[in-house]
Amino acid sequence: MISVTGLAGYRRALVRRGSCVAAALAVAVVLAGCSAASSESPSHASLPPHRAGRTALPTPESRLLGTPTPTASPTPAFDRYASSVSDPRSPWVVVNKQRPLSPLDYAPADLTYPDLPNINHQPMRAETAAALVAMFRAGKAEAGLDFSVQSAYRSFESQKRVYDADVAQHGQAYADGDTARPGHSEHQTGFAVDISAVPAACSLDACFGTTPQGRWLAANAWRFGFLLRYPADKVAVTGFTYEPWHFRYIGTSLAAELHATGVTTLEEFFGLPGGTEYR
Ligand code: ZN
Repeated sequence: MISVTGLAGYRRALVRRGSCVAAALAVAVVLAGCSAASSESPSHASLPPHRAGRTALPTPESRLLGTPTPTASPTPAFDRYASSVSDPRSPWVVVNKQRPLSPLDYAPADLTYPDLPNINHQPMRAETAAALVAMFRAGKAEAGLDFSVQSAYRSFESQKRVYDADVAQHGQAYADGDTARPGHSEHQTGFAVDISAVPAACSLDACFGTTPQGRWLAANAWRFGFLLRYPADKVAVTGFTYEPWHFRYIGTSLAAELHATGVTTLEEFFGLPGGTEYR
C-alpha cells in the first residue's frame, strides 16, 4: 500500500509534463500512457567517471554485436510543484481577479531600481531587475533596440489611488476591465514591468505589439524569464485585455517550459481559476 505522502510524490512525478496532466487523473491510464515519458534513466553523473566514459564510447566490436549505443540522459521532467503559486514572494505566484494577493497589502522586501531608463521611477524585485537589465542589453546587442521601464512596482495604496481615479472618471465597470483592484495587481508583487520603446511609440497601447520592440519582446522575453502575461486571445482566462507591454517575471525555468509547451497563461499551465469576474 502506498502512503498518502508517497502517493502524492508519485503523482507529482507523473504530472510534470503537460501531456500527462489529463491522464494523471486516472492512475491506471498514467501508468499505461505516461510512465515512459516521465521516468528518468539513471544519470551518467551518478556513475564513476571511468565507467561513464566507457559506456559513452562504444567499441567497434560492440557495434558489430549490436550493443545499443547509449544516448544522452533525458532532460528531467519539469516539476510544477517546485515553487508556490500562492506565496506572493514566489516568482510563480498567480495573481488575478479570482486570486488576490495574500496578504492583500503585501509589499516585497527587496525592491530596487535597475540602472535603466525608468519613466515613472518605480522599483522592482531584485531578481526582476537583474533579468530586465539582461533583456534590455540583449535587445540592444541583438536587434539594436532601446527600451524603457514605463512602470513597475505599485504598492497597495498606489494601486488603490489608480483604481479609484479610474472608477471616478469612467465608472466601475470600465475601471474593472482596465485597472486591477488593489491587492489584485501583479504590479504589487514587484515581478511585473510595463515596457515602452525608446524613442516612445505606442506606449501602453495595443499597437506596442506591432513595434520592433514589442515584437522582439514577444519573441524573446521567455529567454530572460519573462512572460507576456496578457495575450490578445486569452482575455477570458487572464481577465485582462491585451497588454503587449506588460511582462511578468516568472524565472527562466518556468518561462522555458511555457515556451516549449506552447502554453501562454499561468492559469492554464497550473490549472488555476481566472477570468474577468472578481471573486
Ligand atoms: Zn502592467
